[in-house]
Amino acid sequence: MTEIKTIGLLTSGGDAPGMNAAVRAVTRAAIFNGMKVKAIYRGYKGLLSDEIVEFKTQNVSNIIQQGGTILKTARCKEFATAEGRKQAFDVIQKEGIDALVVLGGDGTFTGARIFAKEYNIPVVGVPCTIDNDLFGTDHTIGYDTALNTVIDAVDKIRDTASSHERLFFVEVMGRDAGFLALNAAVASGAEAAVIPEVSIKDDLLTEVIQNGFRKTKNSSIVLVAESEVTGGAQTVADRVKSEHPEYDVRVVVLGHIQRGGSPSAFDRILASRLGYGAVQALMEGQRNVMIGIDHDQVVYVPFSKAIKDDKPIDMSLVDTLRSLSI
Ligand code: ATP
Repeated sequence: MTEIKTIGLLTSGGDAPGMNAAVRAVTRAAIFNGMKVKAIYRGYKGLLSDEIVEFKTQNVSNIIQQGGTILKTARCKEFATAEGRKQAFDVIQKEGIDALVVLGGDGTFTGARIFAKEYNIPVVGVPCTIDNDLFGTDHTIGYDTALNTVIDAVDKIRDTASSHERLFFVEVMGRDAGFLALNAAVASGAEAAVIPEVSIKDDLLTEVIQNGFRKTKNSSIVLVAESEVTGGAQTVADRVKSEHPEYDVRVVVLGHIQRGGSPSAFDRILASRLGYGAVQALMEGQRNVMIGIDHDQVVYVPFSKAIKDDKPIDMSLVDTLRSLSI
């Protein structure tokens, strides 16, 4: 096993609150253990174009509370090509980088996995995405903050919904995963959640409507996960409007406000633990793994599993929502 003296660190894919706390944790843990940190700006794009700066401890001062990522993030099509990855490897050699820590989601880990195999370089991943859709970790960095942002928005929408006796369809992010929509629905007391994991034919909404959900309530909120399966909030609203023209229906798409803001205490602690865990993993000779959290323990999950396996939704939470929205 070659000794790791210098770690390259980048953030990639969609930004997520808590990424900065993870950047801080990786940087400080590496320096604490006698390693150098080379910060790579703009994800794989900056790796190809050598946008690299050595970080000292003070470079990550005063960022634990900041949303977004101070390293910037970008999508990089070139990294999906063999020529692009060769260019990245040349830069890594030139910069004297012995291992990479990548912060991002499944696309970031897919690229990392291919690169690590091609060039036999140790790479570990830290899961950062508000979607919480990575297998092998109970939580991803950014998800808790996004969940809190969604329920704050829904609480505000509820004021209008109840004053005007309206039915609101609120679309939340999730990219084919219903974690945000389902958990936010339970946490905000919504009537239903339309999520891709539950068949659209017998989704919670149909059931609620069949039971006559306006009998006992003067407002209703339904959370809809953005997804080709659900069709999004507008599609669901159009369906209900055509079947029930008597309802006063409105649509709100929360959009990018869900990704912003100062990370919650939960996300800051999670980012600190996983960032520290990433450096520990490299020192233990781990490679090609995502650092996850499972039953409150830090675990190493092979990229192959984290990327390919589907993370199941907790169906008991669907039942909970169903029971509590009567
Ligand atoms: P999020 O879940 O927030 O969207 P992500 O990490 O999944 O985050 P992507 O945009 O899917 O975000 O991927 C980030 C980057 O990873 C891409 O811009 C690309 O550079 C790299 N990448 C994705 N897929 C591949 C692949 N098959 N081969 C090589 N690189 C890839």
